[in-house]
Amino acid sequence: MTTSVITLGTGSPIPHPDRAGPATLVSSDGQHLLFDCGRGVVMRLAAAGVGPAQLHAVWLTHLHSDHICDLGDVITTRWITTFTPTPLDIVGPPGTAAHVDAVLASLSADIGYRIAHHDDLDDPPMVRVHEIDPGEVHAGVPDGWSVRAAATDHRPVIPTLGYRVATGTATVAICGDTVPCEGLDEICAAADAMVITAIRDDVVRSIGLPRLDDICGYHSSLDAAARTAAAAGVATLIITHHVPAPGPGDADVITSRIADHYGGAVVVANDLDRIDI
Ligand SMILES: [Zn+2]
Repeated sequence: MTTSVITLGTGSPIPHPDRAGPATLVSSDGQHLLFDCGRGVVMRLAAAGVGPAQLHAVWLTHLHSDHICDLGDVITTRWITTFTPTPLDIVGPPGTAAHVDAVLASLSADIGYRIAHHDDLDDPPMVRVHEIDPGEVHAGVPDGWSVRAAATDHRPVIPTLGYRVATGTATVAICGDTVPCEGLDEICAAADAMVITAIRDDVVRSIGLPRLDDICGYHSSLDAAARTAAAAGVATLIITHHVPAPGPGDADVITSRIADHYGGAVVVANDLDRIDI
């Protein structure tokens, strides 16, 4: 049985025609967990051959807009493509429930239109929100899998969570946006794959805009991500949420900078890369 990590969206808040917003799918044996819901996530799910109706659960690392902006599309598309009330479990840090309530409120006109229009549609979207703290998670976890959450460090954004996902055949660390910290080390320890936001701080700082400089302060640099992966003994390091988006030849630069600190396999992810473990 294979576990697959599919980098659905590898972009950032900066729009890019070929990179959707942050979202990663972990799949094994017909079960799918979606981590974050960035720009275009439902289109990328379609390209991966997985509809919102097939998701076991949606997991959020934090409530930054680029990680959640298309959650409403996931909720709506699941609702209208299932023919019996099918709850969607959404797991995330404290604050997730208020956000989901706001998303549903923003959709209230649409929900009313569709219920009025379709005789076979009587109920609004069924969503079950599970706000969690660091530790073993039980909601939204497929049979035979386990997920452990740990606090990450993306301050001033609080709370943020990273996840250690064990599918039964592989362990994947979904790190999200974070600088090196104890929680990050915990979820990455001896993982088969580590998916992390890593910023080209050399390029970003060279632009000389304070607002861009701020980005470097609360994400891992390439060097930091590589050091974390090396210390944790990770087998494959997957770099995503690129800032800036890699141009021609940049993947080689990124790989070579990481190789200064880390000797394992490296994937400089593009949208819809599928890494089979
Ligand atoms: Zn963030």
